[in-house]
Amino acid sequence: MSDITLGIIGGGQLGSMLAISAKKLNVKTVIFSDDAEAPAQNFCNQFISGNYDDKQKVADFVSQVDVVTYEFENIPFETLNEINKLKPVLPKPSVNRLIQHRLAEKDFINNLNIRTTRYVSIEKRSDIDALEDFLPGILKTTTLGYDGKGQHPISSSDELNSINLDFSRGYILEKLVKLKKEISIIITRFNNNKYEIYEPIENSHEDQILKHSKIPAEISEKIFNQSKEWAMLIAEELKYVGTLCVEFFIDRNDNLYVNEVAPRVHNSGHLTINAYNVSQFENHVRAVCGLEQIPLKKISNAKMINLLGDQISHYRDSPNLKENEFFFDYLKKEIKEKRKMGHITILI
Ligand code: ADP
Ligand code: MG
Repeated sequence: MSDITLGIIGGGQLGSMLAISAKKLNVKTVIFSDDAEAPAQNFCNQFISGNYDDKQKVADFVSQVDVVTYEFENIPFETLNEINKLKPVLPKPSVNRLIQHRLAEKDFINNLNIRTTRYVSIEKRSDIDALEDFLPGILKTTTLGYDGKGQHPISSSDELNSINLDFSRGYILEKLVKLKKEISIIITRFNNNKYEIYEPIENSHEDQILKHSKIPAEISEKIFNQSKEWAMLIAEELKYVGTLCVEFFIDRNDNLYVNEVAPRVHNSGHLTINAYNVSQFENHVRAVCGLEQIPLKKISNAKMINLLGDQISHYRDSPNLKENEFFFDYLKKEIKEKRKMGHITILI
């Protein structure tokens, strides 16, 4: 029995799956979420609900744990930084601050000589003139976006004028890449130059939301190797501890670009639960809790399908699964359109 208690900030499906993995490793979990209905409360040892800036609740949470991690990136830096003075927060708060800001994230990646989409910062209306070079493009809020939220595709500067923009938060305009494919790399860094890295995962999106993931990705050997190298470089440069995801674009000329980095376990890695000896979640818990690193072995090729909105209902009523099919219900109380409600992994 390990006597470590892991604190997890955030109580969605990623927090649930982290808690499930922790349990398997005999690591106790305390989940802190600002959503009183958070589904992860079904899987952890202790659940605390409160606002992330509620000092009393945060102190209560911190007093119960040995190490703290998080399942999503949009946590106030101050909260993570204050916690880190008392108990180690992994990945480090500074890593989260860098990555949760699309401009800082892209500048950092470019400084490593890694290709990203072309981008420009938009801070005020007048920045929008003379942007023909970046069109067609996608305008994104620099912070707090996920699953395509806060994004506007734009093909002419006139269109920009008709969108209601809130300049109290910054924007980034990114040139649209003519996509051939999207892939992601999930990597767990344990310590200096010690990694477990999963093979590239091929992802398809609908309405900017992940729909399918599969391994093997149908990509060239060059892209296979380059994506892994870039993910390792990013993880090493950040002195990252835990599981990290790098999302990539491949354009029609087979150029590879980093789209974004997620300082956490990632939806595209759900298939690792069934397709590998150690999942992205278990590896994250192992790394942040300082447990043993186990060499990764792939068990099977796989495909993962996200169940959005009421697509879950059919599986809840009669899953009717074949032996190679695995259904996960995130136990979210309310079905909302396009909300990630569960997933199916098929070993192939
Ligand atoms: P989120 O934080 O919502 O995941 P992303 O920047 O990853 O935001 O965008 C979501 C999806 O939108 C991407 O996976 C891709 O399918 C599409 N997309 C975003 N930016 C671009 C771009 N510059 N060129 C082409 N497609 C894009
Ligand atoms: Mg993304």
